[in-house]
Amino acid sequence: MLQKKGGIMVVLSSPSGAGKTTLVNLLSKRNNFFISTSHTTRKPRPNETPGKDYFFVGDEEFSRLIKNDEFLEYAKVFKNYYGTTRTPVIQNLEKKNNVIFDIDWQGADQIKNKKLNYKLITFFILPPSKKVLFERLSNRDMKDKLIAEERMKQFDRDVLHWINYNYVVINDNLEECFLKIQKLIDAEINNGSKDYDKEFVKKHVEKLIS
Ligand code: ADP
Ligand code: 5GP
Repeated sequence: MLQKKGGIMVVLSSPSGAGKTTLVNLLSKRNNFFISTSHTTRKPRPNETPGKDYFFVGDEEFSRLIKNDEFLEYAKVFKNYYGTTRTPVIQNLEKKNNVIFDIDWQGADQIKNKKLNYKLITFFILPPSKKVLFERLSNRDMKDKLIAEERMKQFDRDVLHWINYNYVVINDNLEECFLKIQKLIDAEINNGSKDYDKEFVKKHVEKLIS
């Protein structure tokens, strides 16, 4: 096997509203991770900053980026397109900067299948319950109740992808969840022992979709 080089890639995915964006920002702030800023055809939310949260583009520009083969991965999520451009990611990894991605399971699969020569750690974030998830989605997308309902409908399908990730972490208390991810990343980097109970996760998923 080839020796892994450069920085590491950390992917966080989750059903919408479980808290991965919040966790990505926290991880980046406390660890100096470079956040991969995606392109999307979705309209900005009121609290979002173009160029920071996303590069907001139209369908035409997104198609141009696909045609020019600029995406490391891209996918249609809900009704919009989302994608990660390759150049900033590779440039940072080559400089030994660690890069963190907030992308869905389709993007995580694509990056995994590329088998890049950088260490990749994937996390799937779950909410403590569906009730809590609905509350978080309703609070975040206050202006549009339909969005929360639409994303809840997708939940049972999205959650099934947990099996393809290295680790699944439940985001109940934010600080505890952050520390759990942090410890797992440290253990991966240092080849240390991992505090991880897959059976517990499996039972939690069964409860969520029952
Ligand atoms: P995602 O990126 O997975 O769709 P967000 O990070 O946007 O989810 O989180 C959804 C909402 O839930 C946000 O309003 C966020 O502030 C809130 N949130 C995230 N984690 C927690 C937590 N542990 N406890 C309470 N609220 C949280
Ligand atoms: P939101 O619209 O709530 O910001 O994101 C919706 C979903 O799109 C989330 O699951 C998020 O992780 C995913 N997403 C954001 N950026 C990308 C990306 O560049 N590629 C892929 N595949 N998914 C993304």
